Amino acid sequence: MTTIDSDLLNKPLAWVNQREKALLAPFAMHSADTKGRLYPEEEHPYRGPFQRDRDRILHSSAYRRLSGKMQVFTGEMGDYHRTRLTHTQEVATIARTIGRALGLNEDLIEALALMHDIGHPPYGHAGEDALDECIADEGGFSHNQFGLTIVQEIEIRFHDRPGLNLTRESLMGQLCRVDKNLKGRKPLLEVQLVDAADSTTYDAHDTDDAIKLGLVTIDEMKNLGLVAECLKYVRDNYTGLNEELLRKALVHRLVERQVTSLLSHCAGELRRYDFQSVDEALKGDFVISHPADFAEKKAELEKFLYERVYRHESLVAIRQRAQSRVKQVFEGYCQDPDSFPLKYQARAEKVGTKRMAVEYIAGMTDNFFEETYAQMFP
Ligand code: MG
Repeated sequence: MTTIDSDLLNKPLAWVNQREKALLAPFAMHSADTKGRLYPEEEHPYRGPFQRDRDRILHSSAYRRLSGKMQVFTGEMGDYHRTRLTHTQEVATIARTIGRALGLNEDLIEALALMHDIGHPPYGHAGEDALDECIADEGGFSHNQFGLTIVQEIEIRFHDRPGLNLTRESLMGQLCRVDKNLKGRKPLLEVQLVDAADSTTYDAHDTDDAIKLGLVTIDEMKNLGLVAECLKYVRDNYTGLNEELLRKALVHRLVERQVTSLLSHCAGELRRYDFQSVDEALKGDFVISHPADFAEKKAELEKFLYERVYRHESLVAIRQRAQSRVKQVFEGYCQDPDSFPLKYQARAEKVGTKRMAVEYIAGMTDNFFEETYAQMFP
């Protein structure tokens, strides 16, 4: 069953369907049930449609550029902390771990996770807010929407169609991030799971990075419910940890505890509901979530991170400088539209100069943005 029968190499999707039937829960999104792609394509003999989505995203230039984009802390603050790319990889692995245990479709989960932050501009949410202001009169800017624009229009992969031509399920997953209240369209469980894995991941790694960078101390966090619980576990199970190892053990426990909470709650609920199809799972009131008391503890940690880390004075200064530079570069392009690289001129004609300027800046890495700024304003 697990090894492909060579006869099946001539039968597109046969082995993928066989394998998913054996391994996935009835409420998982099965490849056999995909609504396909906008531009129909023949199926692949041994890669399912969501695996192909994952591969297309992984091989896109926007994905590779995530390595040069900051998550919370910039490159000049050292090289220990997460970039947008390593954050994305952590989200993908955590989501796959939970997805596998729940019997969900790991290929779709991975595609969604690798795509989820692909539209982030340089300088994270600071860059996003500045770009949003620049183009407020033309509908604004959001990284989630731009992620969708990248995979549907901007990435070049085929000679005869725009974008990556992903499956409707992957596109709908990203669309649910753009509009969290899509009427009558509850996100697939795989989509909900990636969203939950995103916060699991950043709650843990932002704690790690902030302590490592000296913005906060473990001592200052020890009374937060979730941190206290994890510290107790660490102290009960390990002795003689120095500061470094204590931080690592705490962060490891933060991930483990969140994943176990989500998993045990969802596994119990899914067993109780006993959904026999995707539609059944989407009709009911079940959502991938933590139990209420655990969600409160997570919210408390997130409030602390927001106030003490994301709004830390060292980051506020970087944020203000980045926003002012983004606005200056935007103005520079608007005043001199011929300065876009030639290959973007056609898109500028389609979407207009201002939107083109926003999109071009949004695609830049932090470093490339700084180089552009230095050239424009020597
Ligand atoms: Mg994220």
